[in-house]
Amino acid sequence: MRTPDRVGHVFLPAWRRLLCLLLLLQSMASLSDEPVRKLLVRDGRTLEVIIGVDFDTSEHERLTDWVAYISDALANVFGHWPRHQWEIAITPAAAAGDDPIPWAQIHRNTVDRVDFFIAPRASLEQLKHAWTGYHELAHLLIPYQGWGDSWFSEGLASYYQNLMQARNGVLSEEEAWQSIYDGFSRGRADTEFDGQSLEQVSNTMRVNGGYMRVYWSGAWYFLTIDVLLRRQSEKSISLDTALQKLNNCCADDSLSAIEIARKLDELNGVALFGTLFNQARQSTRVPGFESIFTYLGINVIEGKVQLDTSGPGAALRQQITYLPNLSE
Ligand SMILES: [Zn+2]
Repeated sequence: MRTPDRVGHVFLPAWRRLLCLLLLLQSMASLSDEPVRKLLVRDGRTLEVIIGVDFDTSEHERLTDWVAYISDALANVFGHWPRHQWEIAITPAAAAGDDPIPWAQIHRNTVDRVDFFIAPRASLEQLKHAWTGYHELAHLLIPYQGWGDSWFSEGLASYYQNLMQARNGVLSEEEAWQSIYDGFSRGRADTEFDGQSLEQVSNTMRVNGGYMRVYWSGAWYFLTIDVLLRRQSEKSISLDTALQKLNNCCADDSLSAIEIARKLDELNGVALFGTLFNQARQSTRVPGFESIFTYLGINVIEGKVQLDTSGPGAALRQQITYLPNLSE
């Protein structure tokens, strides 16, 4: 509960003191002693939204609307939420700043929980446009438990945060590719550990840094695989459908990154995830993305992306940011 420490230190006229007291009592009356729990249900799966005690009750609807929006974006990747039961906890962030979601973290367990720390005054629109919401939820697309190779999990989240925003109308197709291009550029500019393998940089990232190199090398891995899967299967298989198969078999398993890659190959009858896994792991800088962009009809002129509207690559590219066809 909020503490009214500062009120006593301000000298105010009597009528103002009374007004302050009334406002304070009103605000205390609309806070609850326990976190508020709301249940969202979708296709028999449940998401418990846990709203921290420091939010006013008048804010609960806005927060629940935001969670409903981003959790819809997650469900749209392969048709349902990855787990039968999961939780999102929201707490107001203490630090002031422009970022609507300054901090977030994931706890993987029997019931996965995502903790969001948000700017208390962030509007629904600001929250919907904050990439962190999509990034964190995208981590749940694979049953990864955090045993090494964090480039794999961070790359998946960095790639999908853009797809989820574009598919749900938060970013245009061009803005999504601009954001992916900007990410690759930040990864390329993060040169401190160039020459060292991604495996090594990834495993020491939380101590030494190199986050952009790690995140965007991982995003390169998933973009490359998504494009190859769609090309080789004439668009009948995509990263979305590959992850759907993984979820159907193994959502409740605890798998390492390489185990997930091997499982994805096995389930989808391909030899891509494992081979490219080793290639990415041994890379010594963010691998080249230019030829993929050229194939997809993405031109970059002075740092700005421009999209071709025709050609086989452009059609494939447009499918990536459309809501997937889940009938297959
Ligand atoms: Zn992440």
